[in-house]
Amino acid sequence: MNHFLALNFGSASLKYALFAEDGTALAHSIVDRPADVRSALDDVCRGLPKEVARLTGIGHRVVHGGRRHAPVLFDAAVESEIESLLDLAPQHNRLSLDAVRSARALWPQTPQVAVFDTAFHSGMPEHASCYAVPAAWRDAGLRRYGFHGLSHEHVMQAVAGRLGRPAADLKIMSCHLGNGASVCAIEHGRSVDTSMGLTPLEGLVMGTRCGDIDPGAPGFIHRELGLTLPEIERMLYQESGLAALGGHGGDMRLIEESAVAGDAGARLALAAYAYRIRKYIGAYAAAMGGCDAVAFTGGIGENSAGVRASVMRGMEFLGLVLDPARNGKPLSDAAGVAELQVEGSPAAILSVQAREEWMVFRGTQLLLAATAN
Ligand code: ADP
Repeated sequence: MNHFLALNFGSASLKYALFAEDGTALAHSIVDRPADVRSALDDVCRGLPKEVARLTGIGHRVVHGGRRHAPVLFDAAVESEIESLLDLAPQHNRLSLDAVRSARALWPQTPQVAVFDTAFHSGMPEHASCYAVPAAWRDAGLRRYGFHGLSHEHVMQAVAGRLGRPAADLKIMSCHLGNGASVCAIEHGRSVDTSMGLTPLEGLVMGTRCGDIDPGAPGFIHRELGLTLPEIERMLYQESGLAALGGHGGDMRLIEESAVAGDAGARLALAAYAYRIRKYIGAYAAAMGGCDAVAFTGGIGENSAGVRASVMRGMEFLGLVLDPARNGKPLSDAAGVAELQVEGSPAAILSVQAREEWMVFRGTQLLLAATAN
């Protein structure tokens, strides 16, 4: 019997799952705020069923894969490629590299596979992926990559399955709202634009990341407050977003509680959060010439009826009409998908359970099967 371990290091947690070869999840858990990578993997070892003696493959979600399109076996060359991208996803790529090295010590015989979050966006048209900057900067690699690709691709498959239509016929807006957050415009089964860019900083307001700001802002803060570029970058990643506006950290549950209690900062944070998503939905509806479905996924997208309601308010002009009762208590099917629009709404609104670990498993399994042949 083949068993595959899928590891998904986020900025604040490790999600992992053990899959049998038919895709059944035999274990699925989360290590919240681990002290370090090695101790997180020790927790994983303790969480695996005792009867699983060996692993066939280990898959890692790697956030920044540069221009890579497909899963790849980890070797020295791939590791140094990911190392070269460290500055572009500082919260994530370091964790992936540490995870590969620690996992190699624990399971020396097991092949390890990198599955990239950037891959789904690799076919974005150039007018969406370019920045209007000097050619020498673009030649140096300054372009929009996009992230959360595994999640957006899964949303596309789940929405198409639920609506009973091929993804190629649908215009889908996928909103991944977790600690990090991004919207993706999916047309003809491909990502045609997404809100994150060169790094996972661009786009939506996130837990602790700023999202879109004026490119002149770092220079302004450097001159006004004397902060260095590395200090400014660290604060844009770790001390901005909901945490900065609300003053209650980046955890949406605490922010919603504080807003209900009347806290002005929390209310501003929530309003700015939803407004930014609405702006992107409007922009991508224009980019695709319409929209058949808006889908919410990730910890906030799946669980916060309040955020979904704020985002969808006034979207009737796009044919998107939320049903408050369905939104308040989504009835998910076996695939983890629930429809939230009113009966007869021209376009669908859905919540979709994130399955990034399953996508890592599938990418790993397919690559290992292909390399065995
Ligand atoms: P990550 O991006 O690290 O994978 P998750 O997808 O787990 O993060 O999402 C984490 C976010 O989801 C946090 O802001 C958390 O507060 C939020 N969240 C989780 N459950 C709920 C809930 N019931 N209501 C509102 N927000 C929630």
